[in-house]
Amino acid sequence: MKETPWVSKEVQKTQNLNYGLQNWLFILNSALTLIMVDYYQQMKQFALPNEDTIAAISTPEGKGGIAIIRISGAEALKVLERFFKRTEESKSVFDMESHRLYRGQILDPAAKRFIDNVLCVLMKSPHSYTGEDVVEIHSHGGYLVPRRILDILFKNGVRPAGPGEFTLRAFMNGKMDLAQAEAVVDVVNAQTDESLRQAEFQLEGLLSKKINESKENILDILAEIEAHVDFPEDEIDPIKKEHMSSRTEIVINELKKVLTTYEEGKIIKHGVYTAILGKPNVGKSSLLNQLIMKDRAIVSPFPGTTRDFIEESIVVKGIPLRLVDTAGLRASADEIESAGIELTKKKANEAEFIIAVFDGSTELDQDDLEIISSLCGDKSVLVINKIDMPQNLSEQQIHRYLPNHEIVRTSAKEGIGIDDLKTTIFQKLVGTRDKIEASEFIISELRHKIAIEKAREGLYSFKEALSKGDSPEFLAADLRYALHSLGEITGEVTTEDLLGKIFSKFCIGK
Ligand code: GDP
Repeated sequence: MKETPWVSKEVQKTQNLNYGLQNWLFILNSALTLIMVDYYQQMKQFALPNEDTIAAISTPEGKGGIAIIRISGAEALKVLERFFKRTEESKSVFDMESHRLYRGQILDPAAKRFIDNVLCVLMKSPHSYTGEDVVEIHSHGGYLVPRRILDILFKNGVRPAGPGEFTLRAFMNGKMDLAQAEAVVDVVNAQTDESLRQAEFQLEGLLSKKINESKENILDILAEIEAHVDFPEDEIDPIKKEHMSSRTEIVINELKKVLTTYEEGKIIKHGVYTAILGKPNVGKSSLLNQLIMKDRAIVSPFPGTTRDFIEESIVVKGIPLRLVDTAGLRASADEIESAGIELTKKKANEAEFIIAVFDGSTELDQDDLEIISSLCGDKSVLVINKIDMPQNLSEQQIHRYLPNHEIVRTSAKEGIGIDDLKTTIFQKLVGTRDKIEASEFIISELRHKIAIEKAREGLYSFKEALSKGDSPEFLAADLRYALHSLGEITGEVTTEDLLGKIFSKFCIGK
């Protein structure tokens, strides 16, 4: 075993004991790598040209002017030739240039029937979304025409595409990395301008760029460490521990910065699940109506009307709030209402933010105190409603139980205090800024956060091992762990389960 200049005798003794374990780890690591490579090859075969050709309707099914049927795979043109007649009769589909629209007719080859007048575009491999030959047929919309065209394709050896399979092929063929592929579904699902902007940044590859920069920096450090694994220390300069440690610290800080964006990214992308709590009749439904500015929740003068849950979405200064109006919480209730109350408690536990409503025209009672006692942490705002009526409830009375808690006074009936409520909710969620904005390096996926945290742990462990004077083999293992973790974001390291999870979120045709 090689000695390194900075390793103490004591540390070396421990290392001797550890080398057996380390060898096993290396063997295990190699085996895992082989499994991954094998898996990649299988996946690549699955998506490579000359494998099956897939098709799906890429536009939403139903009434609409135009539908687009997308075909991808090596057989795309051959299949097209069987049922697409170009308007220029003497010309075959094989003469079509890439990325140009051609007029023609779809004819059912079996029934020898005209189906539709269409436009057709070929995107030749590798300059297509999937990297394979892609044909898109622009037919008339509605249910029947696109379905008939799809049926012809399926009868001619084309396979129905699974959810997100075009994008999966794009990923497998190196057209985009995994973070970019994930952003495709975010672009499609975006509900607000900011969530769309954030998805577009990620689709452009800006997050991947940031992650790749950190990977490059780790790789540079790893290259130096590996030189010490491969060459005896008398042939190479000793490791400059201080310098290496500060370089690692820079990468750690970069990763930390990205990690701090997660809460905001999550809010921009997924919104905040917000429950409106309060005993019956305090004005929860009326408040919800004011917030969404339409009469969706049933407003009734009789306590206990809202027994199921009404969910609505609003956007408060860029933050999507998923609001759920709950059954009123009170102790004395019939059987059905009690079931509603139990569900309310469950919803309140699941909620990421709570708007707790009290009736300003009455004093606090036991039901109100129950609600107050269920509020914990910072993620709630208290509302004294019905301020248009003679008041029997002051802020001080509530502050006795929840000191320093933000209280907003409203009249849901008169529409007073609603803007104050929105501002307070916003500030509680994101602080004192004016608005929440997408930015280039924001992360919003839990799996990205976990991967970055793991990378950071690997780098901390590397720094510690460096200061203890561990052997280069150990140091390299920590760095590889960090690289491996970051590779999970961009998709160099992945598993079938993960790909399944990611692409199952897609719609068919994307
Ligand atoms: P919930 O059971 O807590 O959802 O309460 P609702 O929204 O159904 O309201 C119960 C009753 O209080 C209805 O008659 C509403 O018109 C009335 N109400 C709600 N908010 C206000 C308010 O701010 N002022 C007044 N005066 N009445 C209100």
